[in-house]
Amino acid sequence: MAIEQLLILIKPDGIKKSLTGNILTKLSEARMVIIGAKAVRVSRDLAEAHYYHLKDKPFFGGLIDYIQGEVYGKPWDRVLAFVYRGEDAISKMRKIAGETNPEEADPVSIRGAYGRITTKGVYENVVHCSSDPSEAEREIKLWFKPEEIVKRIYPVKKIIIEKEEKAVWA
Ligand code: UDP
Ligand code: MG
Repeated sequence: MAIEQLLILIKPDGIKKSLTGNILTKLSEARMVIIGAKAVRVSRDLAEAHYYHLKDKPFFGGLIDYIQGEVYGKPWDRVLAFVYRGEDAISKMRKIAGETNPEEADPVSIRGAYGRITTKGVYENVVHCSSDPSEAEREIKLWFKPEEIVKRIYPVKKIIIEKEEKAVWA
């Protein structure tokens, strides 16, 4: 038993199919706590960094297009990103998410209920779910800044940035 945190993404197919509410309800069965949440337009750099371990796979190009959501057009070209935390969070959330391949996933899991395999062979499986604690840490640090998470889950350092252009409310 360990307290863990992980990254969950509602992928563009989940948003387009209006599944956000269903997915969050299903995930809430694990009784984990949300400590970060935001909508993200996924750049090519972020997509490739997130899935770097799959870059030699034949489906990599399709996967990058999928997570960027460009194939769905506006306003579906985005994801919802969450950091969840709790006891054994990773295994509990992955069980609710289901197997990677939606055809093999438990039909009552999120991916089993809502996923599909495209004609290009990409698994459109509605959610991303970190696979182990070290991947979770890498992914959370990739997607979130320290101030976007309401709990100090990893050490931070203070730096001074000079002359940084920043948008503020006009
Ligand atoms: N994927 C795919 N075909 C495959 C394996 C994976 O399209 O044969 C996609 C799928 O969307 C999956 C993502 O690549 O969620 C990342 O793959 P990974 O093996 O990390 O699976 P996950 O951790 O998401 O279950
Ligand atoms: Mg994975």
